[in-house]
Amino acid sequence: MAAQRDYYQLLGVAESATTDEIKKAFRRLAKQYHPDRNPNNPQAAERFKEINEAHDVLSDPEKRKKYDTLRRYGAFAGAGNASARGRRESTTGRGGADSGDLDMSDFGGLGDLFSSIFGRRGADREAEPEEVETSVTIPFRVAALGGSVPITLAMPEVCPTCGGTGAAKGATINTCPECKGRGTVSFGQGGFAVNRPCPVCRGRGTVPSQRCPTCQGSGEVRVEKRITVEVPAGVEDGARLRLKNQGPKGQGDLIVVIHVAPDRFFRREGLDVIGVVPINLAQALLGSRIKVKTLDGKRVVLRIPPGTQHGQKFRIAGHGIERNGRHGDMYVEAHVTLPERLSAEEQEALRSFAEKTGMKY
Ligand SMILES: [Zn+2]
Ligand SMILES: [Zn+2]
Repeated sequence: MAAQRDYYQLLGVAESATTDEIKKAFRRLAKQYHPDRNPNNPQAAERFKEINEAHDVLSDPEKRKKYDTLRRYGAFAGAGNASARGRRESTTGRGGADSGDLDMSDFGGLGDLFSSIFGRRGADREAEPEEVETSVTIPFRVAALGGSVPITLAMPEVCPTCGGTGAAKGATINTCPECKGRGTVSFGQGGFAVNRPCPVCRGRGTVPSQRCPTCQGSGEVRVEKRITVEVPAGVEDGARLRLKNQGPKGQGDLIVVIHVAPDRFFRREGLDVIGVVPINLAQALLGSRIKVKTLDGKRVVLRIPPGTQHGQKFRIAGHGIERNGRHGDMYVEAHVTLPERLSAEEQEALRSFAEKTGMKY
């Protein structure tokens, strides 16, 4: 499922790292994730494999050069991510001046490189729908009661200049020299042949003689898109909402990860909400009637009995979160606040109170 990791990110080194720096980073990580030190830990084993792979390619100048070229062409996920992250999302088009002069002869051994990089992976990711993930932080009340949340994010759209072909006006369209027009490159070992979209033509099977100046050949541009997310009542922190066909080019899905901001007054336990209300010493000792606001802004009068303790909770039935026909309650948690300073007269009054009640001080 996971997208192909970026080798530089895997080793935690910069793109400009020297062979020495790469070796050092590799040794440190290899030690950390070595199977001998992580027995029965498949995650560490997988990581160890990946680190080895990354080192294998990046420590060999020839392989590294090819890898860098492919990487610049967006063949690997994770390289140069923007605000929106997506599977198979192209990072092409932001390469700047040097992305224009790709020497196709560089790709002579592409198949070899691919099998050396991906040989151990079995899954064909081509069938996976393209999707983009983003996250949004919403206020506690919106999460509890539900509501519309507008978000703006940069989304890949079909390039308006070339209509998605990636070709400049008047350019001739040639068969892609890498995939010979198939649009996929296949690689594999031991009977497992796996197809990937061709990184040179991006699966089109053709390359233009001149690239579209707007999208630099990628066929897509990033557009600031405003999307309204309908948040269901009772949504929890970390929830993932799937917005069908709101993803790249209006086809893939947009996944919105919800983060719920803490509230000054309310917190949540399941479907119940707990609101903290400060009461003073006299209210706690003698009892009182206090006005509290519920989650949806209604005012409710709550009777505080004499002798209320700090932290004591009072239930207001049915004013919690409603979800799937179930209703939570609201609880008011009384926090007793004490005066910070007493005048001489007040101290005297309190002393006499303490003496009357046998309270030692
Ligand atoms: Zn274009
Ligand atoms: Zn191709």
